[in-house]
Amino acid sequence: MHNDNTEPFKFRCLICGKAITAEVCIDHRICTIDQLPEEGHDDSDLLPLGAIEMTSYGHYGTAFFDPCDDGTQVAALICDDCMEERSDRLMYIDKQRRLSPFNKTMDELNEQAKQRRAEHEARAARTPAEDIPLDKNGYPDPVYAQSLIDRIEQYRKEKSPGFHDISHE
Ligand SMILES: [Zn+2]
Repeated sequence: MHNDNTEPFKFRCLICGKAITAEVCIDHRICTIDQLPEEGHDDSDLLPLGAIEMTSYGHYGTAFFDPCDDGTQVAALICDDCMEERSDRLMYIDKQRRLSPFNKTMDELNEQAKQRRAEHEARAARTPAEDIPLDKNGYPDPVYAQSLIDRIEQYRKEKSPGFHDISHE
C-alpha cells in the first residue's frame, strides 16, 4: 500500500490506499494507466476513474507544503467511496469562493433543482402543444421547423451569451 521511491509511483487513494486507474491521452490515444509514467504526465489530462483529484497551492499556515505561490501544487487522489463516507467533513466553495458545509449545501442545491423542475413541469403542462404544420409529404413544414430552430437558438444565446456556436462555420 506504500509507494517506495525506488519503484514506479502507483496511483492510490490517499485515505484507504486502494489502487486507482486513470484515463490519459498518450500519443493521441486514450489509455488507462495505474501508475505515473516515469517522465511524468500533464496534470490537465489526468482523469482518475472512480476517484477525485484534490490539489492545493499550499498557503501560509501549513508547514507541509508552502511553495509561496509559485504556481506549483500538491495533489492527492481520493476514491469516491472515501469521499462519500467522509462527506460530512467536506466543504463546498461557491462561485464567489465562499466556503460552506458540503452536505448541507448539496441538500439545498438538490432541493432548489427539484423546485425548478416542478415549476418547469407545471408551466409545460399549462402550455398547450402547438400543432406542427406538415407539408404535402407529411413532413414538418420547413419554414415552421426553421422558426423553431431559430427560437431554440435565440433561447440558448440568451441563456449562455458566451457560448460560441461552431456548427455553422
Ligand atoms: Zn479510498
